Amino acid sequence: MKKRCRQSGVEFEISPEEAQFYESLELPLPRLCPEERQRRRIAYRNFRTLCYRPCDATQKRILSMYSQDCPFPVYETNYWWSDAWSAFDYGRAIDFQRPFFEQYQALAAAVPRFPIMNLQSENCGYSNFVFRAKDCYLVFGCVDNDSCMYGHIVWESENCVDNLYVYRSQWCSNCVDCVECYDVHYSFESTGCTESYFLYDCRSCSNCFGCWNLRGAQYCLFNQQFSREEYKQSMQQMFPMTWEKIEYVSGLLEERRRAECVVPEHFGLKNEDVSGNHIYESKNLENCWDAKVLENCRHCYTVLNTNNSHDISFTAGPVQFCADVLTVTGCERVFYSHMLSNCSDSYLSEFCFNCRDVFGCIGLRNAQYCIFNKQYSKDDYFALRKRLIAHMEQTEEWGEFFPIKDSPFAYNESIVNEYYPLTKQEAQSLGWRWKERNVPSAVPAAESAPKTINEADSETCKRVFKCQKSGQAYKVIPQELDFYRRIGLPLPSYCPDVRHEQRMNLRSARRLEPRTCAKCKGAILTAHTETAETKLLCQDCYQNVLHASIDTPLRAND
Ligand SMILES: [Zn+2]
Repeated sequence: MKKRCRQSGVEFEISPEEAQFYESLELPLPRLCPEERQRRRIAYRNFRTLCYRPCDATQKRILSMYSQDCPFPVYETNYWWSDAWSAFDYGRAIDFQRPFFEQYQALAAAVPRFPIMNLQSENCGYSNFVFRAKDCYLVFGCVDNDSCMYGHIVWESENCVDNLYVYRSQWCSNCVDCVECYDVHYSFESTGCTESYFLYDCRSCSNCFGCWNLRGAQYCLFNQQFSREEYKQSMQQMFPMTWEKIEYVSGLLEERRRAECVVPEHFGLKNEDVSGNHIYESKNLENCWDAKVLENCRHCYTVLNTNNSHDISFTAGPVQFCADVLTVTGCERVFYSHMLSNCSDSYLSEFCFNCRDVFGCIGLRNAQYCIFNKQYSKDDYFALRKRLIAHMEQTEEWGEFFPIKDSPFAYNESIVNEYYPLTKQEAQSLGWRWKERNVPSAVPAAESAPKTINEADSETCKRVFKCQKSGQAYKVIPQELDFYRRIGLPLPSYCPDVRHEQRMNLRSARRLEPRTCAKCKGAILTAHTETAETKLLCQDCYQNVLHASIDTPLRAND
């Protein structure tokens, strides 16, 4: 069935299986295309734009993702979780004369929120959306980590510094889209590699430098085989690494990669019948991105441990039978909701914990049969829920996540502007808020970071460095200095924001386009839209080409 997105106007397809999914959960068919659904959800996520403000209960100075111009009170984390206040005090009756979202927005503007999301974690300052982590610093989207610093979407990892989308890895730095790597640096799209630098699409390699498309290789430099002694000698000349060398090698790898590297329809491993990119240990997925251990899912973006669900964003699971949700954990049959944990059978709710049968609620814990934070009997709840859904069908609000204009974050304050960038004019013309950033003035006199790690000394962490790109001041923390000393790479010469932005720019957009396999000429759906016609392969041809190359490293135009 073809539908036209009521936001973007693009035509999108709803397959019979997709229609069946909605029918089985008694949900209407979506009126927004998958991309606009995803845009709405992530407009509600601010990972990185944090500020200091007073707690509205204790007046203590707290780090918060909500600026002081947000209408609702913000309570420091411990106070929010205490019994000193109750979200039920803000409960209100349903007004069937007014639209649902207008009433929910009034409730959401009154109920207190916690300043940052930090669950079952210890000593993870300056991080946000942290789950079961320990001793992490400036990691945004941090799940089951120990001692990680600076990163976005770092999951099940230890001692990883300055990474983007890294999973089950240790002692890695400056990597993007790497899985199960150990002591790997400045690498991309690589899996199961150890003690290596500047890799692109390598698997099970160790002691390799500046390589691409290799499988099970050892002691290779720019895809050429060397003896162990020759390799070690070259490494001795290379280290300690300087910024000039890093830039030179990165540029060289990029050049060779564009000219020689074969690229698969999608990156991933151990999958069956999937489409999207960066998919691992998954089965039966359509249009899924950064998906780890998923089954029977569609339109999921940055999701772990989930099955039988559609339209999920930034979620670490376990999740099943959910639709159109942002960051839910331990949830079943939760719809159009945001930040719910251990909840079931709930709709259009935010920040609820251990709840079931709640609708349009915010900030509730251990609750059941509630609408707009007001308690009902079981019978009244189901009767009112039915009436409210009918009312929302009338107002054309039923079947959608909260509107972008009601997000507490301006478009450029939320992560949405990094995944779906717009200009100020474009965002405002769509009715979405834009916030002028209060950029602190550059620091003219400050020095740049030491050129090699050997030049860093005990005073280094007390110094203020000047970012070589933005001019912003930044510091190095002692754990970071220890990390770089151990691996022999120089301290960062850019501030954390610039480092994050540079890594984000290396990833392709999450949009599938039809292309043709260079070898078998079969039709493929891929996000690798910039890959040369002659280098793009379907999954089968890619496997065949690279398996054939295990004995002899792949060279130009083989
Ligand atoms: Zn092929």
